[in-house]
Amino acid sequence: MNIYIPSSSILVSPTHHSASSNPQPNMTLHHHHGLFFVALAILYFFTISFPTISARSFPTPSISHMHKHKSWEGFHNFTNSRPGQTHKDLSTVKNYFHRFGYIPNAPPTNFTDVFDETLVYAIQTYQKNYHLNVTGELDNNTVKHMTHPRCGVPDIIHTKMRNSTTVHFHMGSLYSFFEGYPRWPEGTNQLTYAFLPENQLHDDYKSAIASAFNQWTPVVKIAFEETSSYEMANIKVAFFQGYHGDDSPFDGPMGELAHSFAPTDGRFHLDADEYWMASGDVTTSPVERAMDLETVAVHEIGHLLGLGHSSDQNAIMYPLISSRVKKVDLTSDDIEGIRELYGIN
Ligand code: ZN
Ligand code: CA
Ligand code: ZN
Repeated sequence: MNIYIPSSSILVSPTHHSASSNPQPNMTLHHHHGLFFVALAILYFFTISFPTISARSFPTPSISHMHKHKSWEGFHNFTNSRPGQTHKDLSTVKNYFHRFGYIPNAPPTNFTDVFDETLVYAIQTYQKNYHLNVTGELDNNTVKHMTHPRCGVPDIIHTKMRNSTTVHFHMGSLYSFFEGYPRWPEGTNQLTYAFLPENQLHDDYKSAIASAFNQWTPVVKIAFEETSSYEMANIKVAFFQGYHGDDSPFDGPMGELAHSFAPTDGRFHLDADEYWMASGDVTTSPVERAMDLETVAVHEIGHLLGLGHSSDQNAIMYPLISSRVKKVDLTSDDIEGIRELYGIN
């Protein structure tokens, strides 16, 4: 599946007219499919006919974001490259592994383009973590896996992965925690959350996120209450585009979808460049890159409560998620993990 067909880059253009922290246009699009596709056709016409006009209608930062995610797609160029070889821009693969915790320390300057031991080890660790064949090479399966849309929270660096050195194909708990097992204090039975006021979210966005919180309540025994005071809220929900003041700038459509911080930080960030669907059946959306908001929110709330990533692909805390998929029910892996952290029987 290649989402970088030309029409999909046009498809995202309406969102780029919005303010950097306002995802509002995304949420209105899917209510008006007819008009939307007419608009799409017109936009496409302008794009192919008047390149100078279309260039001005795409703000520069968004173009660079598209390019940035294309770099994940570009990993396919390295399929079946061999240890010892040098390939132009192979350093981007190392940046990816560093970003998600598979290369603990970056060199003082940039990564080299050499397929070195560090890269082999990173690939092997990634393959073990995701139960892929451990080849230490960028085989087709591994590269396909790496280019999948995912959560921006690293798999390893900040989390203590269980079973990260042994491959377990059978049952067993595959959940993880952040280093030091941070959690909300004992006795916490209520947490407040608020939406960044500038986002001016529609009610259907707010209800999708409320539903996501409600998935966790019965298990963790914490009630989540919306408050209007963003500054005072325990959990701060915000949609951002690109760089937004932390170490993890968003990357435009697909790639990284969202990220959140371990307790008790409370920051919950979503990439405003995704085509979020807050209501309706995402599985039948005509938009190939449609992402279910509640699905991603249930995962991020797991981080906000203290769970790291799970290598159980059915778990909510599995880092990868496909577009047009709804996955909101906690699995036994998620439930065992949160119960262990909060000492609930
Ligand atoms: Zn995550
Ligand atoms: Ca993204
Ligand atoms: Zn952020």
